[in-house]
Amino acid sequence: MTGAISQPEGSITGGCQCGAVRYRLDGQVVKTYICHCRECQKQSASAFGISVRVHGADVIITQGQVKTWQRPTDSGRVLACHFCPECGSRLFHGDLAGDDPVSIKGGSLDVMPDLSGVDHIWVARKVRGIAIPAEARTHFGEPDDETA
Ligand SMILES: [Zn+2]
Ligand SMILES: [Zn+2]
Repeated sequence: MTGAISQPEGSITGGCQCGAVRYRLDGQVVKTYICHCRECQKQSASAFGISVRVHGADVIITQGQVKTWQRPTDSGRVLACHFCPECGSRLFHGDLAGDDPVSIKGGSLDVMPDLSGVDHIWVARKVRGIAIPAEARTHFGEPDDETA
C-alpha cells in the first residue's frame, strides 16, 4: 500500500511548526507522492516536497486559521497555497472547499507517512545525491493533476 498511514480514520492529525494551526483528516489518503519539482524545492526550502493527496472536504482545521498565497501553474490555473500566518509553515495546497484533491504537505503530519513505496514525480528536477528506492515508481514530470 503506497503512502499508507496506519492510523484509523479521524485520528490522522497535523499542524504547523509553531502549533498555532492544527488540523485533522476525516477521510482516507488518496495517494502520497514525493515531488522533486522546483516549486516544491522552493516551497519547502529543501530537496523535495511530500504531497499527501486527500479530499479537501476531509481536511478539518481544528485550531487557528491559515493564510493563503496563490501561484500560477504551468497550465494557467491558479494553485492556492495555505500556510500558518505565525510561523509560515506550508500546510495545504489546493482548494479546501472544492472537489479536486488537496495536498497536505507531508512533513506537517504528526506521524510521518511511510514513504518507502510512494511514487516519485518530477524526477527530471531531482537534486543530485538524492537516491530514489529501486522499487519506487517514477514520473518524469506531473502524473495527472497539479496539486502537488
Ligand atoms: Zn505556525
Ligand atoms: Zn512539486
